[in-house]
Amino acid sequence: MPATATTDDVKLEPFWWEAAPRPTGAAPDVPERADVAIVGSGYTGLSAALTLARGGASVVVFEAGPIGQGASSRNGGGYGHGLMVPFSELTRRVGLEPAKAIFNELSVSEKHLIDFVRDEGIECHFVARGRFTGAYAPAKYDSMARELELQQKHLDVDAEMVPRANQSSFVGTELYHGGLWQRFGGHLHPALYHQGLLDRVLDAGVAVVPETRVTKIERAGGEFTLTAGNHTIKAGNVVIATNGYSGPVNGWLRRRLIPIQSQMIATEPLDPAVVARLLPEKRMVGDTYKLKHYYRASPDGTRILFGGRAGGEEINDPKRSGIHLHRRLTRLFPELAGVGLTHSWAGFVAFSFDYLPHMGVRDGIHYAMGYCGSGVMLSTYFGHKLGRRILGAPDAGSPFENRRFSTRPFYTGKPWFLSAVMAYYAWRDSRYL
Ligand SMILES: Cc1cc2nc3c(=O)[nH]c(=O)nc-3n(C[C@H](O)[C@H](O)[C@H](O)COP(=O)(O)OP(=O)(O)OC[C@H]3O[C@@H](n4cnc5c(N)ncnc54)[C@H](O)[C@@H]3O)c2cc1C
Repeated sequence: MPATATTDDVKLEPFWWEAAPRPTGAAPDVPERADVAIVGSGYTGLSAALTLARGGASVVVFEAGPIGQGASSRNGGGYGHGLMVPFSELTRRVGLEPAKAIFNELSVSEKHLIDFVRDEGIECHFVARGRFTGAYAPAKYDSMARELELQQKHLDVDAEMVPRANQSSFVGTELYHGGLWQRFGGHLHPALYHQGLLDRVLDAGVAVVPETRVTKIERAGGEFTLTAGNHTIKAGNVVIATNGYSGPVNGWLRRRLIPIQSQMIATEPLDPAVVARLLPEKRMVGDTYKLKHYYRASPDGTRILFGGRAGGEEINDPKRSGIHLHRRLTRLFPELAGVGLTHSWAGFVAFSFDYLPHMGVRDGIHYAMGYCGSGVMLSTYFGHKLGRRILGAPDAGSPFENRRFSTRPFYTGKPWFLSAVMAYYAWRDSRYL
């Protein structure tokens, strides 16, 4: 196999779909009325559906394409404290106590994911061995150390800085200048996790309707009417769980999200001893470049699954982004220069303008989104929380809820500026790569 992603035998769909193909089968009957209608069948939508159905609600989930086709079956599977906004900055923005509440909620949501996967017995190659984040420059290492010190002063944080001399125990690259070792976090097989969630949702009696885009949501007399494909359905409550795939069905939300492609590649099978040396203990690894890389071993320990955000024009073409990511992979691990790829794919994440995830209610419609590329853990948790909120449960609140969700003047949801911003970030990163 040649060392680029340009060959025709590189599959342009997620490696994960080999073990968990998108579900096929007859669509369920769509009822005329449901307690709750959910738009989107990723982790957010399904997690909300499960909590609601187990709480006694009748639930319908509509999915525009194949079930789980969005980011939830395409991602790197990494979970852990993944906020884009550092604790120091959040403290400046919202004050110390609210910032602490938000960070503590991340720990709660991590525990929720771990307990959920274990209690439900979902087989998704769950690995809880922490995460290493490499610093691209010495100054970055120093700023990460200051950030960790501040966090340890105010929060219960189980992490330490690893100097460059010791980093080979965490990742086999010479490129980083040390990094942060967080003992929490880890990774899972994202599509098997989605499948496990879906199986439980179906067992709970939820109708999950594929290939049926919701195009209109109207509210009158205390209930909603949804137009979805050929169906019209009445619902007491609506959840929008469309994140990076949010379209015109709700313009208010769309104007608050910046959809961005995230891309991944899978190497051909390698000698497991090489993978174990480059990624000891099968840990999740990321770094601090503007266009971050995130990577891990495949569950069988024979491949490296490598993700990032290509800059400039590559962003909409998985063949070209595969070449770009392969270049980055071999910058980090020069010994992989001759290694071929088997898969190159992409999916959409959603950033918010304040780089924080959001959940809340607007005009009676519940939403959770804007995970800024780190939604495996939070989408599961936010979906559950939305479900609890609709059920009227006393434990429904969250410090993330109903925070100011801002947009920008004249922004319609189409990020015309993205190509230029990504190209600039790629140029900035190239000085350290
Ligand atoms: C390549 C990649 C790598 C990633 N890696 C990581 C990682 O390692 N760790 C991490 O934490 N996060 C990662 N993420 C982000 C994470 O996958 C997402 O944050 C998370 O899956 C969001 O889940 P969701 O259910 O909100 O949205 P999605 O899973 O994207 O689901 C939204 C769904 O809504 C559907 N939809 C949209 N509009 C309509 C409509 N009108 N009617 C019906 N259906 C509609 C879409 O078709 C889609 O299936 C990654 C994402 C990508 C793309």
